[in-house]
Amino acid sequence: MSERTDNGGTPLLEVRDLTVHHGQLRALDRVSLRVFPGEVYAIIGANGAGKSTLLRTIAGLHQPTDGAILYDGKDMTKVRPERRATGGIVMVPEGRRLFGSLTVEENLKVGATYARKGPWTIERVYELFAWMKDRRTQRTAQLSGGEQQSVAIGRALVANPRVLLLDELSLGLAPVIVQRIYAMLPQILSTGLTVLLVEQDVSQALRVASHIQCLLEGHTTLEGRPSEVTAEQVEAAYFGLAPAGGPGGYGGPARPPQGGSGGMGLSQGGSGGMGPPGRKSRGGLGGIVPPERTEPLWHGSTPSSRAS
Ligand code: ATP
Repeated sequence: MSERTDNGGTPLLEVRDLTVHHGQLRALDRVSLRVFPGEVYAIIGANGAGKSTLLRTIAGLHQPTDGAILYDGKDMTKVRPERRATGGIVMVPEGRRLFGSLTVEENLKVGATYARKGPWTIERVYELFAWMKDRRTQRTAQLSGGEQQSVAIGRALVANPRVLLLDELSLGLAPVIVQRIYAMLPQILSTGLTVLLVEQDVSQALRVASHIQCLLEGHTTLEGRPSEVTAEQVEAAYFGLAPAGGPGGYGGPARPPQGGSGGMGLSQGGSGGMGPPGRKSRGGLGGIVPPERTEPLWHGSTPSSRAS
């Protein structure tokens, strides 16, 4: 892992050599990261890379086999999930997980039940998402996917987190909706939050993140600032095609393309052309295409041309 000194100080969240098993499967293998206050830190990677496992373990929903999770310098590895949440680590789970039979406002009240003191209130969430107040009595099952995602974010915000964990906000949403949701990030960050997000849409992750880390089959294959990594390095790290090198690069042996949980098989199934058949259908995948691609890895400017 590359040394990061740009933010200085102590990381707000630190993961040290985290190994997590699901039964016999080693979903994460000695993964480390450090997230500094005010950062947007993005974990990218293909289906099955271990991204959600990482986020869920940080939230306390999986117990690691090895390694440690530190929050504000304190060891949280064995702390119960609800205590992590009330301590300020709050997750927007993959798939939203709203109470569909409850209204928008009732869902927000659930989030506020054990809230820390802080700037976020239900009224403030209504200011962030202008449509929401007028529809606060509507059941969330009746909302569109993008609206549900907004309620899920609002529910997390009213808990007044210090670290907001966002698991695949783009899942199942049209690119335009995804961009609209991510457009809220600056307002969220301006209230002092730190964000750790998991995203399969690489374009989106590179657009919003101050730091990215790529996982492949439970290993870190690349990490660095978006301005420091090239398209080729990200592609290699994402698909496991060649040593990634570069800033904080994995630099390990080239991994042959594999099916299943790895980064390959990405041209099959799903509306976004990603993931093995029968897995999640995803929209807005940011131009990630299999190795025989003819399109660039992401839209617009290359990461190396991006301002840091
Ligand atoms: P996706 O984008 O598909 O969610 P991911 O990068 O988030 O992928 P994980 O969901 O963390 O990956 O899964 C990592 C590996 O662990 C995969 O092989 C997956 O099948 C497996 N896995 C995840 N959760 C469980 C579980 N609860 N029980 C058993 N295996 C699991």
